[in-house]
Amino acid sequence: MMHRPLRVLLVEDSEDDAELLAYELECSGYELIYERVDTASTMNAALDQQTWDIIIADYTLPSFSAPAALTLLQERQLDLPFIIVSGTIGEDIAVAAMKAGAHDYLMKGKLARLAPTIERELREASERRKRREAEQAVRQNEERFRALIENALDIITVVNADGIIDYESPSVERVLGYKPEELTGKNIFDYIHTEDRVNLAHTLNQVIQSSNLTLSIEFRFQHQDGSWRILEAVGKHLLERDSGSPFINYNKVELESSNIPTRKSSIVLNSRDITERKRAEEIRNTLLRERELSEARFNFVSMMSHEFRNPLTRIRVSSELLKNFKDKTTETQQERCLNNLESAAREMTQLLEDILIITRAEVGKLNLNLNNCNLADFCSNLVEEMQIDAGGKYRLLLTIQGECNPACLDENLLKHILVNLLSNAIKYSPEGGNIWFELSCQNDQAVFQVQDQGIGIPMDDQQQLFESFHRGRNVGKIPGTGLGLSIVKRFVDLHGGKISIKSNVGVGTTFTVILPLNSHQSIGGQLDAKQCHAL
Ligand code: ADP
Repeated sequence: MMHRPLRVLLVEDSEDDAELLAYELECSGYELIYERVDTASTMNAALDQQTWDIIIADYTLPSFSAPAALTLLQERQLDLPFIIVSGTIGEDIAVAAMKAGAHDYLMKGKLARLAPTIERELREASERRKRREAEQAVRQNEERFRALIENALDIITVVNADGIIDYESPSVERVLGYKPEELTGKNIFDYIHTEDRVNLAHTLNQVIQSSNLTLSIEFRFQHQDGSWRILEAVGKHLLERDSGSPFINYNKVELESSNIPTRKSSIVLNSRDITERKRAEEIRNTLLRERELSEARFNFVSMMSHEFRNPLTRIRVSSELLKNFKDKTTETQQERCLNNLESAAREMTQLLEDILIITRAEVGKLNLNLNNCNLADFCSNLVEEMQIDAGGKYRLLLTIQGECNPACLDENLLKHILVNLLSNAIKYSPEGGNIWFELSCQNDQAVFQVQDQGIGIPMDDQQQLFESFHRGRNVGKIPGTGLGLSIVKRFVDLHGGKISIKSNVGVGTTFTVILPLNSHQSIGGQLDAKQCHAL
């Protein structure tokens, strides 16, 4: 037989009875450690001295009793199995003792039930202990989390699916001026900026629908003083706990008493105030933008002066030549000087005009002036004019596809765009070259394509062609300001259109401009549509 250790404290005045009981227990297979006590003080001493597995008490002793021993045990908050073994005890007294907390009672002389009773009580006591330990662990955990929540800098909010605030951590008062109880029970949306409500509702819905989704969101929450604070929050579904285990039941009671709800479909929002950070970011961005702008202005002005210096130098040199060598220069030399003066003046005029247009576009002074226009006629006339200018040196070939009327565009700006692209195609092509100009309309869009077989544009330059003054590195002595395409780009943008380039050095270049046939619609109604319909 296996001998199990058992530490028994016997509350018994009779030495003989104690020994008899001990003998019974040893016979039942216990390896016994026992002590007999018969007064409160000896019992206290025994309890102080060591740990006991079980207490077996006689009911009446000369100067002690089972109920007194039980009370003593309870006062010391010891949860030990307490079994009464007595010869004199009546049924009613036994029942009263059980009610007072004794675990069982047995008659002396009928101890067959003793061993199984002890086994059962030991088992139950061990279960009670485990449960107590688990409860203790849960309680400590809860306390730790509550301390974390209540001392956190962030605001912890629990809202239910209807947006009602179920819990608000104490930090809300420091950040938003409200006491937590002022907000609990209120609808969170009443405090959210109207412009942020849809977004917040959308995020909360997403979180509600997916238990493992964590989403972050920014919104404005009205401070108690009426000002708006920007909060950055992380939202997560608060899971309903399983109510099967006793520890969780305990938990629920705890939670209720601390007002943290465990309702279904709640969301925990962990928010912090980022108003100051946002403000600082905004100021930094504004400063950065201003610096960029003033740098861009400075660059523009320096490039502009540089561009003017060139023709001005030519004017100075040519006029000096004419003045100083009036009699010595030949007629052809004189004519060359005069031509130089003329071309320099023309160049400067062009520069001035381009700069004026760009500046007007930049300060928003350039508005679209939309008219109903017949694109096919418009393009035919333009090509005709330009062909006359180009004489026999180049051939402009126009094709038109699709139905382009009615079109609502700014004719002046469109002319500027197309003249620029066509004259570039001419300028950067060898004499005798063909320029293909195609207009095609479909899906409410007009597509203008200008294709040449000229010098092409190096890949590295293509990215920056629309910046003011940028010219391809392969232009050589071909004159130009580097402003044309940046103007074209601005005009295309004004129409809500797009421009793209396809080019290979030595092969040729194709510019494609796509404009909406009805610009006033594609620019989001900023423009007065009546401009077109009135015609
Ligand atoms: P520019 O007055 O120099 O022609 P643009 O702004 O019109 O200024 O064009 C910018 C640069 O783009 C030109 O300097 C040239 O390098 C390149 N470019 C424009 N169109 C063509 C073209 N059809 N073929 C080759 N290069 C072109």
